Amino acid sequence: MKKQICILGSTGSIGTQALDVIQQHPDLYEVYALTANNRVQELAEQARKFHPAAVVIANEDHYKELSELLSDQSDIKVYAGKEALCQIVEADPVDMVLTALVGFAGLAPTIHAIKARKKICLANKETLVVAGELIRNLATQYHAPILPVDSEHSAIFQCLVGEDENEIDKILLTCSGGPFRLFDDEQLKNVTAADALRHPTWEMGAKITIDSASLMNKGFEVIEAKWLFGVPADKIQVLVHPQSIIHSAVQFTDGSVKAQLGVPDMRLPIQYAFSFPKRLPLNGERLNLFKHQLEFFEPDLEKFQCLALAFEAIRRSGNMPCIVNAANEIANEGFRHGRCSFLGMGRIIEQTMAKATFDASPDYEVYVQTDAEARHIARELMNNYK
Ligand code: NDP
Ligand code: MG
Repeated sequence: MKKQICILGSTGSIGTQALDVIQQHPDLYEVYALTANNRVQELAEQARKFHPAAVVIANEDHYKELSELLSDQSDIKVYAGKEALCQIVEADPVDMVLTALVGFAGLAPTIHAIKARKKICLANKETLVVAGELIRNLATQYHAPILPVDSEHSAIFQCLVGEDENEIDKILLTCSGGPFRLFDDEQLKNVTAADALRHPTWEMGAKITIDSASLMNKGFEVIEAKWLFGVPADKIQVLVHPQSIIHSAVQFTDGSVKAQLGVPDMRLPIQYAFSFPKRLPLNGERLNLFKHQLEFFEPDLEKFQCLALAFEAIRRSGNMPCIVNAANEIANEGFRHGRCSFLGMGRIIEQTMAKATFDASPDYEVYVQTDAEARHIARELMNNYK
């Protein structure tokens, strides 16, 4: 039986690469549902090519256009709205849900998919940043496996295969350092979104590319690793590794370090999440270690305030990571549209952390309120950081 996959965010960077993987294994995988937010034309094109049972456009304003574009495809059901995302993941035939949408919007459909006992292939790290404890508890309660798609977490996961009985001493989480690794404070003041969108080693969606430039992405990945692998944050070390060849490593109590290496290609972690515990053939470039000099540096927490703020959020715990995530979504979008500076993003997040209501043991409703409150505060602060 072919595995039926629901891709949340099929028109994005991860979504399209997932479709490439599925296309390489038509005997194993079938698309059950595709979803997007605004890119209607792309979604309709994908639907014509992959013939899913359903498509969902999250932004309801595009429902009519999508329906018209697919009016000759009577076997494809067309839905719209956030609620529809939550419903589609629960559909009986769905075996796996790839969460490849961006930001807080991933939380609700992921919870629905877990409660429907689907296998979660998790790219949407914001879900674990916002509500890691809740997600971990639900996944345990409903026996829903969560397979990491983020390359570092896939690397760690691959290092842990066969190590169930063994304690993790330390996780070595690698980080490219982003395009501004060697910039000084003066240069950082003037960088533009266009500069930040030129990532040295990975091609990704706009939001995560900016997060990678500010190193907020790495802070989020520490939180993600903490919840995925049950390791306290003080046992997770961030290493700047500009070549992005070692995708991360695990040190065990006997001092042995296992690492996973490869050329940067997100299709590998996507495919591994689909096929685990099996490895499947994948076309593409192979690693040639003769061509690479591997380097490692400590991250500069003074230069990259966002990483320091993520560590602070981990320390304060409760809903603080949710506050940081919401403020970061607003600041990140603001920077992309020229409404705040690169360094302004950190200041907006820092001040939102100081102003938003803290809750030491949040539940789902608190996360929703926190997200809304922190976004509101961050928007108000935006004007000060042009
Ligand atoms: P993209 O911006 O390229 O794609 C995002 C996808 O989600 C698009 O299909 C988009 O639809 C949809 N989407 C965006 N906002 C919403 C919303 N509010 N509701 C419903 N759907 C929405 O992002 P990426 O593929 O780069 O990233 C996806 C996730 O994976 C993120 O959480 C990111 O952190 C994570 N990730 C990405 C990596 C990468 O290499 N790209 C690596 C590791 C993790 P539309 O096209 O219509 O806007
Ligand atoms: Mg990553």
